[in-house]
Amino acid sequence: MDKRFIAELAKIAGEEYVSTRQDVLLAYSQSASMAIDPVMPGAVVRPGTSQEVAQILRLATKHGVAVTPRSGGSSLQGEVIPKPDGLVVELLRLKDIKLHPELRSVTVGSGVTYGELDKYLKERDLWIPVYPESSLVCTVVGNVAVNGAGPGSSLFGCTGELVLGVEVVLPDGRVVQTGSEANPNAPGPFQRYAFGPDLTGLFIGSLGALGIITKVSMKVMRRMKYFDYCTYGFDTAEQAERFLIEVKEEDINGLFVSIYDGDVIGLFMDMLGDELGIPKTDWPHRTVPMTIGRVREDHLKADAETARAICEKLGGRVLGVPELPRMEWDGRLWNFVRACYAHGWHWRTLYHHQTPTNSHRSVDEISATMDKYGFLGHTAGFHSGHASFNCYPHLYFDAQEKDEEQKIRDAHRELASTLYKTGAVPFKLAAYWADALEGVQDYMDLLSLVKNTLDPHGIMNKNVLGGI
Ligand SMILES: Cc1cc2nc3c(=O)[nH]c(=O)nc-3n(C[C@H](O)[C@H](O)[C@H](O)COP(=O)(O)OP(=O)(O)OC[C@H]3O[C@@H](n4cnc5c(N)ncnc54)[C@H](O)[C@@H]3O)c2cc1C
Repeated sequence: MDKRFIAELAKIAGEEYVSTRQDVLLAYSQSASMAIDPVMPGAVVRPGTSQEVAQILRLATKHGVAVTPRSGGSSLQGEVIPKPDGLVVELLRLKDIKLHPELRSVTVGSGVTYGELDKYLKERDLWIPVYPESSLVCTVVGNVAVNGAGPGSSLFGCTGELVLGVEVVLPDGRVVQTGSEANPNAPGPFQRYAFGPDLTGLFIGSLGALGIITKVSMKVMRRMKYFDYCTYGFDTAEQAERFLIEVKEEDINGLFVSIYDGDVIGLFMDMLGDELGIPKTDWPHRTVPMTIGRVREDHLKADAETARAICEKLGGRVLGVPELPRMEWDGRLWNFVRACYAHGWHWRTLYHHQTPTNSHRSVDEISATMDKYGFLGHTAGFHSGHASFNCYPHLYFDAQEKDEEQKIRDAHRELASTLYKTGAVPFKLAAYWADALEGVQDYMDLLSLVKNTLDPHGIMNKNVLGGI
């Protein structure tokens, strides 16, 4: 990388926050995306303010240097892998947290992790009720940039639903605030849909391709204290899917409601059952763990009774097994992920949303692909909002075997196309979806137009957002 460029970077951020050391760059060449090849950047810079970010983007535009914004580096689909000899802008030094108690909102800098924010809010009896399982390392801004979801989404939808506004630095160095805070006289973030079209939404899921988000304002809520953990069993996929719909229709506060195929829960329990103290169970065709949460205890009791009644009316069985939803909610699913890591598996993932009544089609397609290519893997999912279901298929493979590596890429490409044909929609528009997206040319053209307008020199995380 050009020495004068590095010297100018150091002038902006301070020498100690710029590095071209190979061992440092090695750390930034990869992410938690285990199945994607690392790429060495040319330099990393760690700005401490929005103004420094602005100066860095202006400089990168002037020199035509490819920029990859990076926060926690925990994304799984290669979004944060840098460009060869490009610049990584790591945003973890922006650590401000500002609570607006009367507006029920909080503004955080791009370096604040979910874990740090949750600790801060817990001391005040508050929370942000959607909480990704990677929370100890993933930042709130990073999760907004990928349009994430997680425990809590069954009731509150994806992370984006809780966003009130962002401060974003455009590639030309302009610093723009969206939402009610665009009015400098506003008391704080209280309304996202201000000033016409939803420009906040433009940056939700933008994967660092349109600019750098330096702050995000989020809704906060009173922390729920009363929880009911219960597992329900069904003999058919249709019953389980219907259960999810009726839970919504009856206004039950299902914070996290998953569906597991019998084989998948069997696989996990073989790995973890003893350790978690989950009794040996003859798992039914579909297992549905649900955590219900309420601020008031009497409301919780009514919800729990109604849920059990719906299950029985649909011909299901109330299995109990509270350890399972408790592990999902209190443990943020971490045990499942840990089990995969502990067994040394690499995964390929194809996160997508289905409708609840279509979720079995994802399970069927994923199972068929695993059978066809001979891969082990798992899939499960959770209710992710009003009428959507987040599926997270993981195909495991041995990265040391070059043949397997090629085979997994082929299987992944094929599966993206098959899932798309079942009506699935990608919510993290990672590049590998690009080949599968038929019939959305006008939409993708519009996205390209937006990208080219905001980033005419094409410096921001190119070829990531749906391959744009
Ligand atoms: C064990 C495990 C569990 C996970 N569970 C979940 C889960 O439950 N839900 C979920 O949604 N995800 C989950 N993930 C994926 C990952 O944690 C999320 O994608 C997370 O939001 C990424 O945040 P990050 O701070 O690590 O961002 P990074 O990985 O650093 O970046 C992610 C993307 O956002 C861009 N970006 C980063 N910072 C900025 C910024 N300031 N401005 C603009 N663009 C930026 C990057 O360029 C990249 O495209 C999991 C990952 C792991 C390893």
